[in-house]
Amino acid sequence: MKESTFIPTKIDLPESYLIRIAWSDGSEFVITLEDLRNNCPCASCKGEVIMGKQVLAPAIPVFTPGMHEIDAINSRGNYAIQVGWKDGHNTGIYTWELLHELCLSHGKSPEELQKFKQSRS
Ligand SMILES: [Zn+2]
Repeated sequence: MKESTFIPTKIDLPESYLIRIAWSDGSEFVITLEDLRNNCPCASCKGEVIMGKQVLAPAIPVFTPGMHEIDAINSRGNYAIQVGWKDGHNTGIYTWELLHELCLSHGKSPEELQKFKQSRS
């Protein structure tokens, strides 16, 4: 496994639907739990690629209650976190590298967060 140059220094949930990650380079990102779940890297969400071929098609995405709410975050050594969701799904292991990519591609600005908050109420 390639070692990530970015290490989270702090991970918390500022709101029940947001995760905030501070990184060793001093940057900080907030992403929605929806984006986090939608990018779950486990085999049943993403399918499995063996010899360059998709052998296990991901299941049709179905909304289940609690799927965008976090039940528990467990650290996996010093390279990843394992996220347990309230719908019982807990096989997704997010490496620092993946988390940092998600922060860069899905990180929300304060304005976007405000809009997201309003769209929920
Ligand atoms: Zn998954």
